[in-house]
Amino acid sequence: MPTGDLTSEQLLALDREHVWHPYAPMPGVRPPLLVESASGVRLRLAEPVGGVRELVDGMASWWSAIHGYAHPVLDEAIRGQLGRMGHVMFGGLTHEPAIRLAAELVEMTPGPLQHVFLADSGSVSVEVAMKMCLQYWRSRGRPGKQRLLTWRGGYHGDTWHPMSVCDPDGGMHDLWSGALPRQVFADAPPREFEQAYVDHLAGLFERHADEVAAVIVEPVVQNAGGMRFHSPRYLQALRELASAHDVLLVFDEIATGFGRTGELFGAEHAGVSPDVMCVGKALTGGYLSMAATLCTREIADGISRGELPVLAHGPTFMGNPLAAAVATASLHLLRQNDWRAQVGRIEKGLAAGLEPARDLPGVRDVRVLGAIGVVQLDHEVDVAAAGAAAVREGVWLRPFRDLVYTMPPYVTDDEDLARICAGAIAAAQAG
Ligand SMILES: *Cc1c(COP(=O)(O)O)cnc(C)c1O
Repeated sequence: MPTGDLTSEQLLALDREHVWHPYAPMPGVRPPLLVESASGVRLRLAEPVGGVRELVDGMASWWSAIHGYAHPVLDEAIRGQLGRMGHVMFGGLTHEPAIRLAAELVEMTPGPLQHVFLADSGSVSVEVAMKMCLQYWRSRGRPGKQRLLTWRGGYHGDTWHPMSVCDPDGGMHDLWSGALPRQVFADAPPREFEQAYVDHLAGLFERHADEVAAVIVEPVVQNAGGMRFHSPRYLQALRELASAHDVLLVFDEIATGFGRTGELFGAEHAGVSPDVMCVGKALTGGYLSMAATLCTREIADGISRGELPVLAHGPTFMGNPLAAAVATASLHLLRQNDWRAQVGRIEKGLAAGLEPARDLPGVRDVRVLGAIGVVQLDHEVDVAAAGAAAVREGVWLRPFRDLVYTMPPYVTDDEDLARICAGAIAAAQAG
């Protein structure tokens, strides 16, 4: 490995030689863009690409950087915490950043959710949610309840058990269908309310209630599984069916949480409260990896009265003080910035800016909810061509499957938002 300053060329050569990227082969086939720094809603590249050095970020770093990059308040939260401690173990010790964050989360999520498990990534928070549910029923003398119910088209993470509830077809994980635990799948939820679909769900609850511990879904929007929206009335139906059949209800709000869909949490579109809720992604404003699993008193009590009266989970970096401090600062900013106004403005901008995409050949649907804008094609996107077209417009997007979409930072101003929409349209045309 060369010593001293490395040129962009050297860095990219080392990257290609040694570094795995998400969902990529080794070595990679499409060279990634080398980012030098990021500020506000802009990524600054180390070298210009086709004359473009700065990209407006339409992805908010996988939907997490809701306040933009290098935000002075968030930077200061980490710096201030760093002066006290970067990390201490959470077993037998505790600290103010984690306590404050947990209290904030309890306050802002639906009332019945009272207990918080701080996990180190979204997938882990889903693992913890599943473990909570299975352990709850075991403690209650129903050890046969070990399966999960979900609907097709979902995404809940890349670790083993979360993979088992991701969309079983066409997703990234169908390779493993024979090796994963076999869960109970309903059809994907239709966009509009249909009683026949609720009847279909009810049939599955009736048939599988004895073996199902919990139903897990992304409320209102299925994100990485296909950016599909559905009627919040299905969430009300799930709440009723789950309660009637002794099944716990888990909402995975890792993508939908913290205002993204126009309500603080997806659950609020339906006015229901789950028994367990996962949050992540935007939790730290995109600064550090942290997620959380919240549950009701009933579940915590059930687990704590069982044969093994503890929740058997405890990651090394649980409750990391730096992540907790920046998360709390990000939640304060959310309120201070009036997230509802920010997201409402972005929703209007996306609706107007993406409207022309409807008339493009090959476009099947254009849909917007909160700060989520989707252009769905009637064919698989040519990812390389679509991405390059967006870059030529000065925009960073990462299309997948048949989708060109944006989930921009909430601080994106109208001009940059128009640019993102132009980038999405160019990407849809090229892809
Ligand atoms: C991203 C995501 C996850 C996984 O989170 P990681 O932090 O990537 O492990 C789980 N569920 C949903 C809904 C997600 O969007």
